Amino acid sequence: MSEQRDFDVVVVGGGVIGLSCAWRLAQRGARVAVVERGEPGCGASRVAAGMLAPVGELSFGEPELLELTLAAARLYPEFVAELEAASGEVTGYERLGALHVALDRDEAAQLRRVHDLQRSLELEAEWLPPRKCRDLEPGLTPSFHGGVWAAGEAAVDPRALTAALLAAACAEGVEALTGTEVVGGILEGERLTGVRTRPAHESGKEVRRELSPDTGDNVIRAEAVVLANGAWSGATEWLPERARPPVRPVKGQVLELRRRDGEPPARRILASERVYLVPRGDGRLIVGATVEEMGFDTAVTAGGIHELLREAYRLLPDVAEMELVDAIAGLRPGTPNNLPLVGPGEIDGLVLATGHFRNGILLAPLAAQAVADLLSNRRSSLTRYRPHKDERAVAEVGQTS
Ligand SMILES: Cc1cc2nc3c(=O)[nH]c(=O)nc-3n(C[C@H](O)[C@H](O)[C@H](O)COP(=O)(O)OP(=O)(O)OC[C@H]3O[C@@H](n4cnc5c(N)ncnc54)[C@H](O)[C@@H]3O)c2cc1C
Repeated sequence: MSEQRDFDVVVVGGGVIGLSCAWRLAQRGARVAVVERGEPGCGASRVAAGMLAPVGELSFGEPELLELTLAAARLYPEFVAELEAASGEVTGYERLGALHVALDRDEAAQLRRVHDLQRSLELEAEWLPPRKCRDLEPGLTPSFHGGVWAAGEAAVDPRALTAALLAAACAEGVEALTGTEVVGGILEGERLTGVRTRPAHESGKEVRRELSPDTGDNVIRAEAVVLANGAWSGATEWLPERARPPVRPVKGQVLELRRRDGEPPARRILASERVYLVPRGDGRLIVGATVEEMGFDTAVTAGGIHELLREAYRLLPDVAEMELVDAIAGLRPGTPNNLPLVGPGEIDGLVLATGHFRNGILLAPLAAQAVADLLSNRRSSLTRYRPHKDERAVAEVGQTS
């Protein structure tokens, strides 16, 4: 039998972005439901390495993204402290610092160029000779050409973060509907006034947009629908085509290793041009990540594992002795210009919180703040970003008055 329920906001997708938005909205008094077709955090948020690394992830020609990632990194310590207090759970947040190492001459030339850019932007990044790199991380390969030390970079355990967000959101009154898929939108004229849901194991291919009482689907009415379904948001067939954000899945494979003697696998985040290694407090080492345009494919491949292990071994030879615990793949929500899409959608009632590509764990506090500000009619005191109506994938960043 179908059921209808009313909320102020319904959030589609229970990843790090959807849960952060739900928590912040509920804190401001909104009645919020999160609809997640699997378990919370079962998408990209489960696979992410959890680096909070605006300096190391810097690319040429992306000043707007840098502004967002720096703002988010500044918010993080307070965000996790508040979250841990509200949820009673730890997030694994730690300011480890990151060491980017050049393994050969070509890599050194490229790393020098990136370091010049970092310095021109006055970012915290210092060039170190091999001896000083080894002081920071004794297990590094014996022969390399120096590195860049970014002392301010941090990491969080995304699975612990998701669990803490879920607990904090539920404590604030958010209703988490797991194992439930959004299969339709309720459109009244040009306005989205809710969604239609179905138990995930029952949902098939059929998509309906109109409200018809005999479908058997449950209906959630809400003032606003926040689209936070990550890599799937560009394929949201229940939205009119013009309202679907230009998001595509970008596959990433990662490995989890563990030292068998229980010692920490590394002290810092380590990276070369082709791989990064992120140590977790529980003794695991995350090795990431491939970047593949493969649609919605999430197969772990022999080639992917080979590439990651080879490059990890070149950087940290101890890797060869570690236990291989897991190999997984996830889908980053990519946009045409690598900027996230957060703000009003193309139809009334729709709010976007998607397209966070390689930085969704880092950007979560900022996205949540922007969505909560938007829906409580406040202008963000820090940074606002919204999709540009003409180019559709341009984030607007700036201090607001
Ligand atoms: C290999 C890899 C490494 C990464 N490393 C980092 C990193 O170090 N640092 C960093 O900041 N970011 C990293 N990222 C990026 C980060 O993981 C993502 O940007 C972030 O997780 C996106 O969060 P999300 O909530 O938007 O998406 P997701 O976590 O994918 O959540 C979307 C959710 O929506 C649900 N959903 C989809 N459709 C529906 C529907 N119709 N109804 C109900 N539910 C639905 C899905 O089941 C899913 O749980 C990495 C990503 C990958 C793949």
